[in-house]
Amino acid sequence: MHCNIIPDDVLKKIKDKHTLENSEAIRDFRAATVVLKKASKVPIPGDHDEVRVLYDAHNSMLLNENEANIIEVDYEQEHRNEDSSPELEMFDKTYDFFKQKLGMESYDNRDAIWKIFQHFGIQYNNAFWNGRCFVFGDADQVFFRTFWIQDVCAHEAMHAVTEYVTQLQYKGQSGALNEHISDVMGICLVNFLLPEGEQWKWVIGEGIWTPQIQGKGLRTFTLEPAYDDPILGKDGQPKHMKDLYVGIKDNGGVHINSGILNHAFYDFVYRSGKKPFEEPLNIWWRAIQKTKAFDDFAAFAWNTIEVAGELREYLEAAWKDVGIVPKKKNWTFMDFIKLFLMRFH
Ligand SMILES: [Zn+2]
Repeated sequence: MHCNIIPDDVLKKIKDKHTLENSEAIRDFRAATVVLKKASKVPIPGDHDEVRVLYDAHNSMLLNENEANIIEVDYEQEHRNEDSSPELEMFDKTYDFFKQKLGMESYDNRDAIWKIFQHFGIQYNNAFWNGRCFVFGDADQVFFRTFWIQDVCAHEAMHAVTEYVTQLQYKGQSGALNEHISDVMGICLVNFLLPEGEQWKWVIGEGIWTPQIQGKGLRTFTLEPAYDDPILGKDGQPKHMKDLYVGIKDNGGVHINSGILNHAFYDFVYRSGKKPFEEPLNIWWRAIQKTKAFDDFAAFAWNTIEVAGELREYLEAAWKDVGIVPKKKNWTFMDFIKLFLMRFH
């Protein structure tokens, strides 16, 4: 699976043909090599080496894991090192957060090494998980300032977890659900790191733009648009099912319709009065683990309700606020055929 943080639509608006064409080429390559993955149900007993490696792509488009390209390696014992690069530190915090909140030993629950590349391409306007490693461009400094943002790291890392835990299809409603899960993890980590007593943050990619762009970030969980700019236009993420995007761009609106689910999460946090990274995240994570490849919004909402316990009432109200009616997914014969065919994709 190949998951870009910046959707094609935004790249088209800033006329970035270079990133756009290469994103498509990389995505095509990944689509041809996709394999079904499965996380271990329980962490493998034994030594838990947590290894994260930061590589330098040297402004090429090659992801060469040669020793010569290693900038820094972090192990569990050393990652509080003061000299650690800020880039690796963001992934360290993500790793720890996943372990603490999800109980995951790396994204596959089998201690997979996190491989992170920086300086990918020249002024490359994207960051992505390609099914094997996390890759960051330098940003053009014209529209995009940086992709090294804590929630962007957690967003991409969660795509890796989702790929192993649910195999959610990256199109239509299941794709938007996939995007939503990554945004939830990003925003929960940002709030987890906030000093006690600060207001919750609800913007994904805060600081991603140069001052040229009028915007706070890439997406929001609130009703407020993330950007409203002469070049980019206005952030068009829907926050209610009545505005659901049903076209074919962006894989059927994976980065568009995720706004509806994001808003439901935000709504639930406020209704429940809980910290986003505590009960709400826990409910989401338990629901994610029950999620199947083609699940839609209604099926996911059903999964959350099933594990909501005493917060069920608040959660039902939150889903209602965004126009989603929780409904248990009934598997059709076609679903089984599609799942079978995925193996030969
Ligand atoms: Zn994503």
